[in-house]
Amino acid sequence: MRWGLIGASNIAATQMIDAIRASGGEIASVLSGDNRRGQEFAARHGIAASTTDLERLLEGVDAVYISTTNEKHFPQAMAAVAAGRHVLCEKPLAMSVADAATMVAAARQAGLVFGTNHHLRNAGSHLAIRDAIRAGRIGRVQSVRVFHAVQLPAHLQGWRIDNPAAGGGVIPDIVVHDADTVRFHLDENPAEVVAMTADAGLGAGVEDNVMSIWAMPSGAQVMAHESFTHGFAGTGIEIHGTEGSIFARNVMTSRPVGEVTLVTQTGAEAIPFEDHSLYHRSVRLFTEATQGQGRPAADGEDGIRSLAVALAVAEAARTGRRTPVDYGG
Ligand code: NDP
Repeated sequence: MRWGLIGASNIAATQMIDAIRASGGEIASVLSGDNRRGQEFAARHGIAASTTDLERLLEGVDAVYISTTNEKHFPQAMAAVAAGRHVLCEKPLAMSVADAATMVAAARQAGLVFGTNHHLRNAGSHLAIRDAIRAGRIGRVQSVRVFHAVQLPAHLQGWRIDNPAAGGGVIPDIVVHDADTVRFHLDENPAEVVAMTADAGLGAGVEDNVMSIWAMPSGAQVMAHESFTHGFAGTGIEIHGTEGSIFARNVMTSRPVGEVTLVTQTGAEAIPFEDHSLYHRSVRLFTEATQGQGRPAADGEDGIRSLAVALAVAEAARTGRRTPVDYGG
């Protein structure tokens, strides 16, 4: 499959170029808003061409991977779909649920595959956690605690910490991933949320810390903590059920690492899991879906829903009110 990269981004450079090639894909071209940066990016990564013209990039490819800043995802995805290209898009899909729903519906109507690059549900750790829940090993889930408070590395600070118009802030950046992961494990969508943000001095015009509580339709409660300013907290997820608890440490990360422990009446046991690359699996499943086999790990609907939860968290923090999650039509 021939791919076009829309965005000369860090995530493309560090994870996705390798993942696309590992799936047998060929990267034909990269789009950058800056001619020189695009050329340098192409040369550095062995990509044959670069362009600043989206129409031109779309001419010679079967699929695109969109990893520009968040406000560009919607127009770029719409253009790719109009040109008949499959789309693997970064999260958050768009700046509004309406735009995300429009781009996903356009791809569906055109018979194209649309994937959202939620990497975490591709992790061996999360797949094993989900299997344990499905197998009934913790009984009925009562609550989830998500720990995703990290120190945003200096090279990723840029627009994330000072540009609300580009989708900066810890809520669009990290809450979407946690929403997707919780949806993946519990197979249900948060109904209502409450939230508070805090300003630790890193964000300028955007939040750099948030805590929220989500009410699930089953009655389960979720507490989530996301931050750009916690250097030593580590990440994790705990899922507590009527028959047992899952404690997973260091698993809210792009690397295939961490530990998963199941605790029940009979004691504690380590849950083994595979250590494949999260991004390789994401691209492989997307590629297979374009060949008519299976579905992307996270599809467009998953991307709409994770965005809806993040926007509800932002709204709840802004208003101080318990806020229903608006998933659109
Ligand atoms: P980057 O900041 O690296 O890239 C975003 C855009 O910024 C690029 O499209 C590029 O514009 C521009 N840019 C990049 N480097 C420079 C530079 N040195 N000087 C000026 N402009 C530059 O973003 P990320 O890779 O961190 O994130 C991109 C997208 O991917 C976001 O939507 C983010 O949410 C998502 N993401 C997803 C992850 C996941 O695991 N699923 C992980 C990290 C990010 P141009 O293309 O015009 O050259």
